Amino acid sequence: MKIHNYSAGPCILPQEVFDKSAQSILNFNNSNLSILEISHRSKDFVAVMDEARALALELLGLTGKGYQALFLAGGASLEFLMVPYNLMKVEGKASYLDTGTWASSAIKEAKHFGETIVVASSKEQNYNHIPKKYTIDIDSSYFHCTSNNTIFGTQMKSFPDTDIPVVCDMSSDIFSRVLDFSKFDLIYAGAQKNMGPAGTTLVVVKEEILGKSGRYIPSMLDYVNHIKAESMYNTPAVFPVYASLLTLQWLKNLGGIEAIEKINNDKANLLYAEIDRNSLFKGASVSEDRSVMNATFLLNDESHTQLFDEMWKKAGISGLTGHRSVGGYRASMYNALPIESVQVLVDVMKNFELKN
Ligand SMILES: *Cc1c(COP(=O)(O)O)cnc(C)c1O
Repeated sequence: MKIHNYSAGPCILPQEVFDKSAQSILNFNNSNLSILEISHRSKDFVAVMDEARALALELLGLTGKGYQALFLAGGASLEFLMVPYNLMKVEGKASYLDTGTWASSAIKEAKHFGETIVVASSKEQNYNHIPKKYTIDIDSSYFHCTSNNTIFGTQMKSFPDTDIPVVCDMSSDIFSRVLDFSKFDLIYAGAQKNMGPAGTTLVVVKEEILGKSGRYIPSMLDYVNHIKAESMYNTPAVFPVYASLLTLQWLKNLGGIEAIEKINNDKANLLYAEIDRNSLFKGASVSEDRSVMNATFLLNDESHTQLFDEMWKKAGISGLTGHRSVGGYRASMYNALPIESVQVLVDVMKNFELKN
């Protein structure tokens, strides 16, 4: 049976990425060696790393604009710490927008480095919206936000204009929509939401913001060291980087971010239209802030849970259960999820309505 994979992460990737990366484990580049057994300093792997770094910048429209792309370890969670380590000035401060669990985890780490100003928070409303009216302290070393709140299903549709560096956790919507990425000074994203398997994190950083914190930074946590070493300061996660490269190539062949954005919007519109039309369901987040990537929704009458769960599972849908902090359902519609899978879910919701 065909499975429709709505997993929030690690998540669905293009089939050709599974096929090609599987082949590379058996025989990489016709070398009769596995990608898992060659040196990361070999010509073949260095070429993978170089192309992955260049292609990430190219897709984001940042080539030749003073940015560097790195594939680091430690997940997006380590970036919560690396960002203040590298950017918050000694005795300085930083401003954060609190839009969800991940944003608040980033805030928690920053507090160890200096004054951490939370410019606005939607915590009191269980993060069902993105706060809009706030002022950013311009004496801050940087402003940090989370573009897409994976757990709560909200997404920033616009970003503040500010003269201080803007840092953004784009783990769950990088490469999914057109943005002016040059407005950001540092972008990071754990690969496993929209780019590749777990095990590597993409960091895109404008070089000119580095080296100004006045702190001693441990070698492995210093972006400057990783840039100097061309993202090979230590052994990189060779297989996750290769699989990420394959996903980026897939995206480029599809027409890049502009092309995938249209598809992503079609998928989200299809599902949200049904959530709004079907009287048995309601959306979990406010309409204007709804995420195109992660749609969160609830049953109006929870006593129907068992029946609905049976129906979607029978249709081959996987990974639809909501995060415990919201409950209900979460449909994660990352780049590689085909619109046919969304249609299957919408059909199940319609049939479920007929049965009630
Ligand atoms: C999943 C996620 C994280 C955590 O990523 P790890 O790679 O597991 O550390 C951070 N931020 C956002 C927005 C996420 O969706």
